Amino acid sequence: MNIMTPIQRPSPIVSSVDFDVDGVQHGFLRLPYSRDDSAWGSVMIPITVVKRGDGPTALLTGGNHGDEYEGPVALFDLARTLHAETVQGRVIIVPAMNYPAFRAGTRTSPIDRGNLNRSFPGRPDGTVTEKIADYFQRMLLPLADIVLDFHSGGRTLDFLPYAAAHELRDKEQEKRCFEAVAAFAAPYSMRMIEIDAVGMYDTAAEEMGKVFVTTELSGGGTSSAKTVGIAKRGVMNVLKHAGIVSDAPETGPTRWLDMPSSDCFRFAEDDGLVEPCVDLGDPVRAGDVIARIHPVGRTGQVPAEYRSALDGVLAARHFPGLVKTGDCLAVVATVEDKI
Ligand SMILES: [Zn+2]
Repeated sequence: MNIMTPIQRPSPIVSSVDFDVDGVQHGFLRLPYSRDDSAWGSVMIPITVVKRGDGPTALLTGGNHGDEYEGPVALFDLARTLHAETVQGRVIIVPAMNYPAFRAGTRTSPIDRGNLNRSFPGRPDGTVTEKIADYFQRMLLPLADIVLDFHSGGRTLDFLPYAAAHELRDKEQEKRCFEAVAAFAAPYSMRMIEIDAVGMYDTAAEEMGKVFVTTELSGGGTSSAKTVGIAKRGVMNVLKHAGIVSDAPETGPTRWLDMPSSDCFRFAEDDGLVEPCVDLGDPVRAGDVIARIHPVGRTGQVPAEYRSALDGVLAARHFPGLVKTGDCLAVVATVEDKI
């Protein structure tokens, strides 16, 4: 059940683009942000709308977390190159949703430490991050038929490159989500479970009945030619799949993976130095040691061994060389014929 605020205040965010006008518009979502160095200042979130005639609307986002780069690279590029003549319907592009976090190169906002992907449905009278969430919740998501939100591992995780959707109660909606994942045609396609789905943009979009696709495309706080290529091809494939851009999606081989239960996650119960024992994509059997954590306070200490609970492949790993108790150390996904 949704708990609604008694009075729905209007969003303080003002858009400089008109979502109903044909053509290409580059502008901003302007969020008033009064502060020491700018009394009547604003956060200016770049946005592009490309529209021609009637048709479905795609909402494309990156930078939900500010240290994940394939989405912003692909979407700044798409915003510059997508012409209205090639579109039937509407494409709304926000390459860096949590813009303060994106500019700081951090997962969360430097203004309020807000994790945008844990802030939904947001609040029009909340923090800067909550105001961004509220604008997407009440203004942008309702416009969309299909939603693609790019993620990668950021500075603390690294993933196999995959597009993903979630198991949903509405099986017809779930089927449409996985058809869009297949159309994205990343090297891997995942049925994903979340450690904590409360407050996620994913959940907000799915609860509105939207076709929702997310990604994890490597990580480590950077990007590569290979993963940026996957993102660029994937976003065009989703637009083609939605019928917004004509032509068939450029298909490629994908390997279907599943996260069947929370057993797929391994969390560190020690602080120390990570020794990876398998690499991303390597096959693992239940009981195999996938990583060791070496104590670093003194020499002569025995490392803690972390074993896989499942047969599958290593789908994600902690990224920096040092780990803390509670960090996600590894994710093992099972290999499926087809979801
Ligand atoms: Zn993310």
